[in-house]
Amino acid sequence: MKVLKFGGTSVGSSQNIQKVIAILDEKSIDDNVICVVSAIGGITDKLLNAGQLAKNKDKGYETAFNTIKTIHFDTLNALLPQPSKAIITTLENSLQQLKELLNGIFLINELSPKTSDKLVSFGECLSSTIIAETMKNKGYNVALKNSQELITTDDNFTRAQVNFEVTNKAIKSYFVNADQTITILPGFVSKSSSGEQTTLGRGGSDFTASIIAAALQVSQLEIWTDVSGMYTTNPKLVKQAFPIDNLSYQEAMELSHFGAKVLYPPTVQPVLDLDIPIHIKNTFDPEAKGTIITKQEQQSKHTVKGISNINNIALLTLEGSGMIGIPGFSKRLFEVLATEKINVIFITQASSEHSICFGIDNADAERAKKAIDTTFDYEISLHKINPIAVEKDLSIIALVGDNMKSHQGISGKMFSTLGKNNINIRAIAQGASEKNISAVVSEKDVKKALNALHERFFESNTKQLNVFITGVGNVGEKLIEQIKQQHSFLKKNLKLDVRIVGLSNSRKMVFKPNGIDLKNWAATFHHAEKSSIEGFYNKVVQLNLRNSIFVDVTANEDVANIYEKYLRHSVAVVACSKIACSSTFSNYKKLQDLALKYNAPFLYETNVGAGLPIINTLNNLVASGDKVISIQAVLSGSLNFVFNNFSDKKNFHDTVKQAQFEGYTEPDPRIDLSGIDVARKILILARENGIKMEIEDIENKSFLTKQNLESNSVDDFYDTLIKDEAHFQKLYASAKANHCQLKYVAEYKNGKAKVGLQEIPEGHPFYNLEGKDNIVMFHTQRYPEQPLIVKGAGAGADVTASGLFADIIKIGNI
Ligand code: ADP
Ligand code: ASP
Ligand code: MG
Repeated sequence: MKVLKFGGTSVGSSQNIQKVIAILDEKSIDDNVICVVSAIGGITDKLLNAGQLAKNKDKGYETAFNTIKTIHFDTLNALLPQPSKAIITTLENSLQQLKELLNGIFLINELSPKTSDKLVSFGECLSSTIIAETMKNKGYNVALKNSQELITTDDNFTRAQVNFEVTNKAIKSYFVNADQTITILPGFVSKSSSGEQTTLGRGGSDFTASIIAAALQVSQLEIWTDVSGMYTTNPKLVKQAFPIDNLSYQEAMELSHFGAKVLYPPTVQPVLDLDIPIHIKNTFDPEAKGTIITKQEQQSKHTVKGISNINNIALLTLEGSGMIGIPGFSKRLFEVLATEKINVIFITQASSEHSICFGIDNADAERAKKAIDTTFDYEISLHKINPIAVEKDLSIIALVGDNMKSHQGISGKMFSTLGKNNINIRAIAQGASEKNISAVVSEKDVKKALNALHERFFESNTKQLNVFITGVGNVGEKLIEQIKQQHSFLKKNLKLDVRIVGLSNSRKMVFKPNGIDLKNWAATFHHAEKSSIEGFYNKVVQLNLRNSIFVDVTANEDVANIYEKYLRHSVAVVACSKIACSSTFSNYKKLQDLALKYNAPFLYETNVGAGLPIINTLNNLVASGDKVISIQAVLSGSLNFVFNNFSDKKNFHDTVKQAQFEGYTEPDPRIDLSGIDVARKILILARENGIKMEIEDIENKSFLTKQNLESNSVDDFYDTLIKDEAHFQKLYASAKANHCQLKYVAEYKNGKAKVGLQEIPEGHPFYNLEGKDNIVMFHTQRYPEQPLIVKGAGAGADVTASGLFADIIKIGNI
């Protein structure tokens, strides 16, 4: 004999019930089958809702009732096109009783737990009646038996305790004489010894099946549901979760107790001692292996077998110096909770005995506080203990596995993963058996926590990076293209899953929590909503995804000003714009400190030399203990272009015009020609070298004339260039006479920095620098004579995008 249980979704529609019948058909070929069914999916909630409406004197309960009635008749009619008069009358009578019960609740304005149990019992009784009738009609040898006649409980309504002695006897004596191949029974429902209708608690149909399986000592208990087994974590919250092949009873109990809804926690108990395996199967994918739960501690390549969570937790803390060393405090505390029938889910006590902290359901929090404060009234008045502190809307997250005890470092990994993702842990508990480590976190962080922990413990170390890009101009577009192109390479070779989740420019923004499809990103962006800097930030925070990275590809000061907020939320920042790092030293330092404090990298390699690894090289030199003696660099592609093209055959004005025309300068070429841009870059290098420096500290001897510098507009500036041609020719002639090239050089030495035009002699590494190339020479203690040189294209959308991409990848590898 086998016992099969089908859950709410499995019997949720006529099509699904056909699937259930097909499974029963196969299972009953060579064995008798007992089939326990839930109410049609969603009906228990609908019944409770109708009851609440009636209790609140809301006539809407009548509509709610009609919906319930329609669902049942529609299901019956779809299964049996010509239902018998008898079954119609049975359903009509049952539903009439339900209607009268609801009327009664409406009239007396009250819904006690006792009445609530009467009300919800209709769900399972109706579904089992419909399924049995359908099978009878199809010619199966089937019996319908009401479990209320077999399962006897106490009168703890809504979560009654089973009297196993009486119940086991009744089940055995019924089935000893039952000769039908298939017996259908409603799950969840029972009766007290005084004959009142009771239920076994929400999700209790699993338990009904287990009670029957144990009483009859059958060979197997099968729980058929809408997922292919017990998953590594809730598959609704973590897409990458997968079914666990084998679990021990202990592991299954821990996981279900801590929220894996697929199995009602008490289900394991009755079958445990009898060693009856529980097989969790998927009604919609019967071929899938499912999960087998047995006695043995299972060996598995994963030390942690599963991660589960319970929401709606309130944490209560009893604290005070008066508790130290005095026995009996905990006894009194838990006694009052027991008297109030408040279920304690989680307990920790600090070793100083200074505080006891415990977790209960949110809904019980006020009641618990009142009762405990009253119990400890005297001690509170003497200030020996504080009134109980309540913190609500928390969740418990539990790692479960029989073999965790023999592996070090699991809790370390758990807490560092949560910490890295800025998830604050409110309390921790680890059972002495070490089969379970639990942490209490804020409910808003649950999804992120489960995803981060799942990635850490189950996903062969693939790390998901969630990227949010602001600025989709030239460089931004190239970055998106590069990420698209490299996606599978990174996943395979570096185990990085880089997803772009949000995109914005100054007008529009779009978000796709599962990642934007990069093949169609432009079309997706086309339909984006109106954006704002703050709005984009709010959405990133609200999505609360692990490993979030904000990428600034704008040159907007307001965007730079919001980095601080991102970092404070543990969102990493990758900046193309130099604004933040070249602002005041205190701001630069603040961002560095925040990055450290919140474990959120702040990277800006492209601030100097676009994609060239200049900042990274300097950081590595400093970190490995080298001392920088000097830095000399040509860091402006635009100035390089200008002085490579300017000569006695081409005037300065035209050369600058050409540079601007070809996109080598800013729209206002004065920003480049005044040297301010280069000064900002050497400032950043000096700061990266550990020097506290401001932009005003940099000596900037301009090669421009006073007139050039004081021009009021770009046009005006160009006019002055024509007027001052002789000045520029003089610079050129002097260099030529000295066999030198003109280069705009940035220098750092002994804590001081300067920028300016220099005559570079032949043979110097800068002499032959071409086009828009940049070059940096680091003279250090380890590179005293021959400097360490980084050289290459220092501008351009492609190389800048690849510099940003390198920063993103670097974050993935941290
Ligand atoms: P049924 O109606 O069949 O009893 P339930 O809704 O009670 O089904 O339980 C199945 C649901 O449990 C799944 O659809 C899933 O959303 C949820 N669930 C939560 N945690 C887990 C887990 N670790 N493994 C499988 N399912 C889980
Ligand atoms: N129908 C009940 C509930 O929804 C019992 C069950 O489905 O297991 O809680
Ligand atoms: Mg269930």
